[in-house]
Amino acid sequence: MGPLHRGYRARVPRHSRTGPLLVFGPRSTAYDLGPGHPLTPRRFGPGIDLLRSVGAEPGLAPEPASDDELGLVHDQSYVATIRSLSARPIGPEHLEAGIGPGDTPAFPGMHEAAAAVAGGSLRALEAILRGETEHAFHPGGGLHHAMRDRASGFCVYNDPALAIARARRDGLRVLYVDLDVHHGDGVQAIHWNDPGVLTISVHETGHALFPGSGFIDELGGPDAPGSKVNVPLEPGTGERGWLAAVERVVPELAAEFRPEVVISQHGSDGHAVDPLAHLRLTTTAFGAAARLVDTVAHRWAGGRWLATGGGGYDAYRVVPRAWSLVWLAGAHRDPPARISEAWRERWAAEAESYGQAPLPERFEDPPNAGRPFGPVDEVLDRRALEVAEAVLARRRATIVGPA
Ligand SMILES: [Zn+2]
Repeated sequence: MGPLHRGYRARVPRHSRTGPLLVFGPRSTAYDLGPGHPLTPRRFGPGIDLLRSVGAEPGLAPEPASDDELGLVHDQSYVATIRSLSARPIGPEHLEAGIGPGDTPAFPGMHEAAAAVAGGSLRALEAILRGETEHAFHPGGGLHHAMRDRASGFCVYNDPALAIARARRDGLRVLYVDLDVHHGDGVQAIHWNDPGVLTISVHETGHALFPGSGFIDELGGPDAPGSKVNVPLEPGTGERGWLAAVERVVPELAAEFRPEVVISQHGSDGHAVDPLAHLRLTTTAFGAAARLVDTVAHRWAGGRWLATGGGGYDAYRVVPRAWSLVWLAGAHRDPPARISEAWRERWAAEAESYGQAPLPERFEDPPNAGRPFGPVDEVLDRRALEVAEAVLARRRATIVGPA
């Protein structure tokens, strides 16, 4: 057990004994881009089941956001296009709207399904703003690539950007932390010139991975210099380097920014066994990062924290554990020593049939995802911290101006 395993324990009063409001309902599984698509609603089966095994019970069923609400960040003409494709999934509008075969295909009912993801995050944020719950977790949310007028990267409507816009309507300063392996480009672009929104995205470098952006010189628009922060990491970076970069950047910038609400995206596609990307992260690191975000929310934002899911394409071995660890972080509880045997029995055959077996026995992975630390890890760990330092330095220079 290294320092990582001691990690961040929430040093906060245990006042939310029941844990974060869990957002899930019948409409959650309707966001379905088709058989064989990596972002599969199959993940909700084992995912919600494992959450239940640690004491989480869905308490808010997503319903579609209204067109006015979607209009907080999306063009009405784009919403109209999605509505039309939703009713008739073939049409001339689709290329311009970012919809097509491949990443983000049209499907019947696409508008209602995507609007419900947005509605889930919006209602959860409003429950937090009303003080009904300190924390909420929406595992089906985190569709961070959608742009104002265009779908992208499996994402139709940008629910984290919408939740941020909703908090901004109340004049609140929002810290957005994006831990998905892909750059949170849509959220960054939509709030690019708003100094009241600090976005921090830690991801695999755009030189190696979709969407090809998120470099250290992307720092915000002319009215908001230094309010957009990106930590691009080399392919192969493991849990130590990733977590060290998160720990180096997030608490310091939060202390400077003093958010009134924290919204975070917990994609688990940076995991060592995830099929789509090339980081070598662990559920251990995901849990530690979630506890860090929880700590930041309590320190600066009165505990107001909306967590969303995100990417994550190993629906059996990784996603359920990653979701449970986010919820447990918000419940201020350590994970149980072992994963329920009944859960493993229920999902073993299905996991096997998708080539994602055997199922793990523990919530946290072995150090370095089970591979001995070697010289390459040392180099990549050092590199991750160098990038974090470079980001902070570049940001300071941007705010202060040339010496
Ligand atoms: Zn908390």
